[in-house]
Amino acid sequence: MKNYYQPEIETMPLAQLQALQSERLAKQVRFVYDNVAFYHDKMEEAGVKPEDIQGIDDLHKLPFIDKDDLRDQYPYGLLAVPLSDCVRIQSTSGTTGRRVVAFYTQEDIDLWDECCARAIVAAGGTKEDVCHVCYGYGLFTGGPGLNGGSHKVGCLTLPMSSGNTERQLQFMTDLGSTILCCTPSYAANLGEAVNERGIKDKLKLKAGIFGAEPWTEEMRRDIEQSLGIKAYDIYGLTEISGPGVSFECEEQAGMHIQEDHFIAEIIDPKTGEVLPEGEIGELVFTCITKKAFPLLRYRTRDLCRLTRKPCSCGRTHVRMLKPKGRSDDMMIVKGVNVWPSQIETVLLNQGYQANYQIVVDRIGNNDTIEVQVELTPEMAEHPTLPIPAREKKIVSALRSMLGITVNVKVVEPKSIVRSEGKAVRVIDKRHLYQ
Ligand code: ADP
Ligand code: ZN
Repeated sequence: MKNYYQPEIETMPLAQLQALQSERLAKQVRFVYDNVAFYHDKMEEAGVKPEDIQGIDDLHKLPFIDKDDLRDQYPYGLLAVPLSDCVRIQSTSGTTGRRVVAFYTQEDIDLWDECCARAIVAAGGTKEDVCHVCYGYGLFTGGPGLNGGSHKVGCLTLPMSSGNTERQLQFMTDLGSTILCCTPSYAANLGEAVNERGIKDKLKLKAGIFGAEPWTEEMRRDIEQSLGIKAYDIYGLTEISGPGVSFECEEQAGMHIQEDHFIAEIIDPKTGEVLPEGEIGELVFTCITKKAFPLLRYRTRDLCRLTRKPCSCGRTHVRMLKPKGRSDDMMIVKGVNVWPSQIETVLLNQGYQANYQIVVDRIGNNDTIEVQVELTPEMAEHPTLPIPAREKKIVSALRSMLGITVNVKVVEPKSIVRSEGKAVRVIDKRHLYQ
């Protein structure tokens, strides 16, 4: 059944969508070339003129830009409109390195709100819903993005921001929140708190829209179960606007990228070559409608794959499968590639919750890696296995997943710090990348 707020553009036939993208791209490249000295020079250097970019088939001719360019151009170097036309600044969370700032005109904010509104609708949201936003508000894009989307759909919006779990639960039960928006790690914490207090039957929640950090299917299953909801993934990054660049529909099988605003490519991170659909590589975005901060061929460092397989929801926009994490999330430990998500999968498959931490260190020339994971309250109350046996079981599963030996410490419930925003899963004491 079609929702009252699903723009036709989301189900536009592909050929028509691509024609629209081509037209918008050509216009945007001209605009950016004329208004941003940095792009002008970069295109000149690459020997590309705006008239060389007639449509999406020419996109590959444009040079890439990356986070280092953004840092070098901080703060105003990539601004494409006069500063007086801007109404907002947001900033990245600084997960990796120095923060970057992004600028928005009112039109840019409207476009971003629109994307978040589409995400809420895709999760079943209507104007009858009470949308509980506990992403952080402020420079971080999570809160403001979902807040704007929620208004646009006409939901009753609770601008909770993050933290203060008691107050979150009180408002959630008193005001009948139906849609929860936050990071998946905070959703897991809320789920834990709800079950500890035995208030699950007081909740009216039906859906959650969780993103801003990588999370596994196992974690999705846990959150859905603990809060009694359907959990939808949402993706975005400040540089491109914020959450809502892509989001899941009821299929929960990859996130539809809002292709009327953002063109996605997957490239080989080493060679920069564009890869065919279905191959895993680095995600690159080109903004074709934004005004103040319109990045062209921006390398996100996020690794994932795209699929154009038809989706049963009817949306024609391409889907990106769950990002595997960022190229800079991957640790090389003892010479082997290790992703935090692999460790999470092993732990959750053995019945633990997503309360874990990974500590990497180097002693002499040897890397060490330790995974600390909490017992669940049930495990602590009704022990079925002694702790050393539990640890041995995890060590062995991690060995087959990663091919290396990991120290495992199973710790008491509540001994690992809870996250209210993006969780810090890895403490790398080797400081190799600074
Ligand atoms: P920072 O780069 O400082 O973390 P942002 O807050 O803009 O700044 O975060 C954007 C990044 O967060 C993305 O590039 C991606 O790595 C990660 N991210 C956002 N949403 C998701 C998601 N649903 N799944 C996995 N990673 C995500
Ligand atoms: Zn779909």
